[in-house]
Amino acid sequence: MDSDFILIFILVLTALVILFFAFQLVSNRSKKKREEKLKFVRPEKAISKCPICSSDLVGKEKIFSKVFNTESRTTQRCTIIGCPHCFPHMEMGIRRKCPVCKKNIPQEGYLIAHLFNRKDSKNHVHIVGCTECHKKNK
Ligand SMILES: [Zn+2]
Ligand SMILES: [Zn+2]
Repeated sequence: MDSDFILIFILVLTALVILFFAFQLVSNRSKKKREEKLKFVRPEKAISKCPICSSDLVGKEKIFSKVFNTESRTTQRCTIIGCPHCFPHMEMGIRRKCPVCKKNIPQEGYLIAHLFNRKDSKNHVHIVGCTECHKKNK
C-alpha cells in the first residue's frame, strides 16, 4: 500500500513537472510569435511620397525641388523636379505623372507649387500644376 502511494505520488509529480515545462514552452513560443508580429507591422517607414511618380521615399531619399525667394515670407514659389526614382532617370515601371492634369511630365519638365511657411505647423506645399498644364501662367 505504501509503495503504491509513493509510485502514484512520483507519477503525479512528474506529470506536474512535464505540464509545467510544456506550459513554459507554449508561452515562450507565443511570446516569440507576438514579437515577430510586432516586427512585421513595423516595416521601414516611408517619410514622404514623390508627388510625380508616387513612389515611397525611405531613408535618405529626398524630393528634388527648388525654392525661389519671393517678397512675401509666407508663400514661396517652388518647383518639384522629382525623386531618385524618377529623376534624372526613370526606374522600370515608373511614370512621371502630374497630380493635377494626370498627363505625363517630360523628363525636363517639373511641377509648379507654392510653399506656405507656417509658423505653428509644418510647411505646406500646394501643387498648382506641371510644365504642361501650367504653361500660360508662368
Ligand atoms: Zn518620383
Ligand atoms: Zn499638369
